[in-house]
Amino acid sequence: MNQVKTGEPLLKVSKLVKQFPIRGGLLGREVDRVHAVDGVSFDLQPGETLGVVGESGCGKSTTGRCILRLIEPTSGEVWFEGKSVTAANKTELRALARDMQIIFQDPYASLNPRMTVGAIVGEALTIHKLTKTAQEYEDRIVHLLETVGLAADHMRRFPHEFSGGQRQRIGIARALAVAPKLIVCDEAVSALDVSIQAQVINLLEDLREQFSLSYVFIAHDLSVVEHISHRVAVMYLGRIVEIAPAKALYTDPKHPYTEALLSAVPIPDPSVKRQRIPLVGDVPSPIRPPPGCHFHTRCPIAKKGLCDVDKPELERTGEGHWVACHLRG
Ligand code: SF4
Repeated sequence: MNQVKTGEPLLKVSKLVKQFPIRGGLLGREVDRVHAVDGVSFDLQPGETLGVVGESGCGKSTTGRCILRLIEPTSGEVWFEGKSVTAANKTELRALARDMQIIFQDPYASLNPRMTVGAIVGEALTIHKLTKTAQEYEDRIVHLLETVGLAADHMRRFPHEFSGGQRQRIGIARALAVAPKLIVCDEAVSALDVSIQAQVINLLEDLREQFSLSYVFIAHDLSVVEHISHRVAVMYLGRIVEIAPAKALYTDPKHPYTEALLSAVPIPDPSVKRQRIPLVGDVPSPIRPPPGCHFHTRCPIAKKGLCDVDKPELERTGEGHWVACHLRG
């Protein structure tokens, strides 16, 4: 994996918050709120892949969608190449949409079953007027399909004729059509078999190098993001609890939640034994997250009177390594 240059970030996310109102009663008044994202901040360098990991409901997908403003953040800011995404008007947002694309978990649900693959991949070319002639349009689609490992004659077929892995390749070709700089991969390989997952991850890795792409790679499993990520952020109940270069996070995790997640990742070498740290209980409701450290209800080393009262902030523990824990920070 190539090294990432540090400098002006491509993407900057600052104190991002997303709360979803819960409405009830006859008048549909707001009766409560789901605290989906609770003050998330990070930078992404050009050419970098940031893995974002956590159990379902931790706010990782909502974070990804807020970055692209597919859903409106409640507060906080997002900048892309120094331009504010959160303050962008409709026209500016349309221009930004060329640079920032998303690939979804379920490629079938996100591909219109009545459109041919050619029309799906070519739609953005038409919207953004990226080709001048019909021949150029067709050549571009063929090139995109071949780039993701599909064949030219696939353009006349429909999504239902393809396997899950091939459909995800169609989704990737569609995202690449506008030559983006950033792709948010939202659980992009989670629904695929392990061997197909590896193929799609390898493809994404090759494309990143070929087109100088950056990824925010969202997954619920630490083993999935290990080889593709330069850095990894671990989320729990709407907050980043640890963010570090991938190697440091996998070899020297600091946060008890990261330790527990990592202890569940199988090691290919049977001679290496890892002690399993079970996570007790369920993830608390994001409607009323626990006070203090959100993780204190499940943390094996929580300290009463501290962890259930004070919110730990991210603190630097090493080169690029930040942890939100009173006892490990
Ligand atoms: Fe556990 Fe306390 Fe650290 Fe939270 S702050 S992870 S409860 S030790």
